[in-house]
Amino acid sequence: MAAANELNPTARFLMGPGPSDVHPRVLQAMATPMIGHLDPQFIVIMDELKQMLRELFRTRNELTFAVSATASAGMETCFVNLLEPGDEAVVCVNGVFGNRMSDIVGRCGAKLTRVDAPWGQPIDPAALKKALDGRRPKLVAVVHAETSTGLCQPLEEISRLAHEAGALFLVDAVTSLGGMDVRTDEWGIDAIYSGTQKCISAPPGLSPVSFSPRAVQAMESRKAANKVQSWYLDLGLLRTYWQGAKRAYHHTAPVSMIYGLHEALRIIFEEGLEARFERHRRNHELLRAGLEELGFEFVVAPEYRLPMLNAVRIPEPLEDAPVRKRLLEEYNIEIGAGLGEFAGKVWRIGLMGCSCTPNHVNMLLAALRQIQQDR
Ligand SMILES: *Cc1c(COP(=O)(O)O)cnc(C)c1O
Repeated sequence: MAAANELNPTARFLMGPGPSDVHPRVLQAMATPMIGHLDPQFIVIMDELKQMLRELFRTRNELTFAVSATASAGMETCFVNLLEPGDEAVVCVNGVFGNRMSDIVGRCGAKLTRVDAPWGQPIDPAALKKALDGRRPKLVAVVHAETSTGLCQPLEEISRLAHEAGALFLVDAVTSLGGMDVRTDEWGIDAIYSGTQKCISAPPGLSPVSFSPRAVQAMESRKAANKVQSWYLDLGLLRTYWQGAKRAYHHTAPVSMIYGLHEALRIIFEEGLEARFERHRRNHELLRAGLEELGFEFVVAPEYRLPMLNAVRIPEPLEDAPVRKRLLEEYNIEIGAGLGEFAGKVWRIGLMGCSCTPNHVNMLLAALRQIQQDR
């Protein structure tokens, strides 16, 4: 067989729901020398990574590290370690990722109660309260930043209701972490997961997670007969590699990915969290003003909008696929299509991490203006 062509992907501007643009320093870090996953130098890098993740999650949780797979594996890690067969779980659903959580609950053999809200609208705490009435679920789960709809879910009231019902509080912070405030300890979050390719602006491939002491205790008091169904994601086993004075082989950590995340986190703390969140808000405002001028309407009410994921209805006469194709081929700009019930009707414009600059915003607005004029 003839050799395949040398890789030569076009440089794009990534303004979809992830991955986002990656800083050259991150790509460079990933190309630094390979060392063993138990090399003393690598252990130091892991420890620094854990500490930076704690600061990003705003937590003191000892059990904070990165699962070796994408954010969906972080999601699965949270559920499979906390749920035993027969447990009850309440999942709030107002988009694709709440749905995915529900699916995983079923696969754990747990009993699912869903609290639904229409896509693009927040979960109503009163509806959750009603669902919790007379129940003692093991956990309540919710998505902080629903990437399928652009909705930011307020968490504090949901956290309070979950804890009043004696449940653990589980949060998806995949799209929010690194782009807006995520206060794990202050908001009473017991298990939280994220991903690297959204506002952290590293390539996809790792999933930062953090477990509160309460969650660790729930995990440790599983019945002996109910082993965690996934060997790879079993925190009891993973801990022997990520924690303690003596580290033992569990799986071979993706060394270069960890270099990349380490560098992406260093860049985040060089910028400063507050400055970074403010940058996301500011560029969102710039994009909003421009899009509204071009006749776009947002899916979500202003008070619940995410800065890093802008879901807008596609105005007539623009057509979904042909315009996205032109953006990609002529302008090298990627934006996201609508998912599920929003397919064909909504675009998802990401302003995540390194993709969140005034230049990105102005380039996209200029391209859209040109495409509209060409009609
Ligand atoms: C992207 C995303 C996920 C899944 O992440 P993968 O890296 O694709 O596995 C989960 N939840 C939310 C809210 C997301 O945006």
